[in-house]
Amino acid sequence: MLLRLLAGLLCIVAISAGQTADLVVTGARVYTVNPAQPTASAIAVKDGRILAVGDNLQAQIGPATQVIDAAGAAVIPGLIDSHVHLAGLGQALEILDLREASSIDEVARQVREAAAEAQPGEWIRGRGWDQTRWPGKEFPDRNYLSEAAPNNPVYLTRVDGHAAWVNGKALEMAGVDEKSPHPQGGRIIRNPEGTITGILIDRAMGLVSRHIPDATQAQLERRLKIAAEECARLGLTSVHDAGVGRSTIEAYKALEARGELPIRSYLMIGGEGDLWREYLAKGPELGERITVRSIKLVADGAMGSRGAALIEAYADDSGNQGLVILQKDDVLRVARQATEKGFQVATHAIGDLANRLALQAYGEALGGANDQRFRIEHAQIVHPDDFPLFKQFSVIASVQATHATSDMRWAEDRIGPQRAIGSYAWRTFLDTGVRIANGSDFPVEHPNPMLGFHAAITRQDGKGWPKEGWYPSQKLTREEALKSWTLDGAYAAFEEKQKGSLQPGKLADFLVLSRDIMEVEPAEILGTTVRMTFVGGKLVYRAGGPAEGGD
Ligand SMILES: [Zn+2]
Repeated sequence: MLLRLLAGLLCIVAISAGQTADLVVTGARVYTVNPAQPTASAIAVKDGRILAVGDNLQAQIGPATQVIDAAGAAVIPGLIDSHVHLAGLGQALEILDLREASSIDEVARQVREAAAEAQPGEWIRGRGWDQTRWPGKEFPDRNYLSEAAPNNPVYLTRVDGHAAWVNGKALEMAGVDEKSPHPQGGRIIRNPEGTITGILIDRAMGLVSRHIPDATQAQLERRLKIAAEECARLGLTSVHDAGVGRSTIEAYKALEARGELPIRSYLMIGGEGDLWREYLAKGPELGERITVRSIKLVADGAMGSRGAALIEAYADDSGNQGLVILQKDDVLRVARQATEKGFQVATHAIGDLANRLALQAYGEALGGANDQRFRIEHAQIVHPDDFPLFKQFSVIASVQATHATSDMRWAEDRIGPQRAIGSYAWRTFLDTGVRIANGSDFPVEHPNPMLGFHAAITRQDGKGWPKEGWYPSQKLTREEALKSWTLDGAYAAFEEKQKGSLQPGKLADFLVLSRDIMEVEPAEILGTTVRMTFVGGKLVYRAGGPAEGGD
């Protein structure tokens, strides 16, 4: 033990002899995800990369070195969410959150502030208002919003999503006035004098909402930026964006060029089309901050709406086998193109039939073990015969732990107990020798990776239900869960030599946490926050204060 420790120290000294670090974090409980040196108490950074990891890095500290005492806090590699929709999160964050508004004036204030930031004519959207929380409990009137935002159309949905509160500008742009009839299945609320109030119920909402334009390039950039900042806050230093178009790729690149993208991204082209053909012609784009080398296909729907394609019918809907969106030959065609040009294929497959057809297509294109790193996104219900196909064709299972804990209350109704055994079957994947990359699929699920980490090791919801966990034999250990959000996420993007563990030479992407998620009670993980997020050795988020900037 002591010899091994000494050998480790000597090794560090040899690598970093004569080198002074830009930054050294000391007094930490470092979990490296490097099996050769699983833990340490200090980490040194130089030029954006890890210089040394060990227990005594005094030799790396020079007069210009910044030293941070972690005071016993846990340090882990920056987390990688292997399946996200970043612009979708940005849109959700960008819309005004009115759930806490306690009066009409409070809503008007938020709208006024948004209008001050917006271009004239730009739509201001919000969600979550509830007049039953306000004095008087009456439906509000459009005049409040017209005054707050005279030059911007405003569209605010009620907490239940069944009513919208709009302003005069929005009504004007939609051509809705006192003479407009109630649409089928909807109502335009009028006051006793017959004046429309700006409250639209159910189908009447569409009279206005259909005039809300698609995002402009500037809006798209802003959405990506605020979502990336949220990722940095939550400890996600890399994301795999599962299906992007040309404008989104351009927005990523524009932000990166301006130094406004705090995290790294791995982009999957959204389906076959012009963009895919263009990339096939020019080949993958590889970068430290933005990489495009993957195509996302969608083979079936989702389970909640019974759109996931099943080999046998749904247990709660006999005769319905769900929806096959892509046939095997469609996947095979793309898989062959991708193999030839050095791209990865990532296919959304939730039901066992979709998983099977994707695996068969992959198998035909790949022939056997390989290093193409094709992925199945979700891989939720897999027939017992098909787990070995993942291994046989070196396919990665890209899973989302919180999908299991969100779906567990009704999943068994849909598929019955027999198939539930092969569902969200993370342990079975690992036992079969299959790598799993973990993620959230945000904004479908919450982007906080601590919720996913908790779900992965407990298979319980936030309240600790069910007591032993849902199909508890499929739980991951903490070490396995951490690896699935770090090193194996990196592997799923061909980046395991650059990131995913804390060892000399790799990118200095790491987190300082408020609690030690490898030790605390599982329930404590839910409330764990990130104190500091470093990307390439640069502090991109610090709790309770602005991130260091300037350089
Ligand atoms: Zn998704």
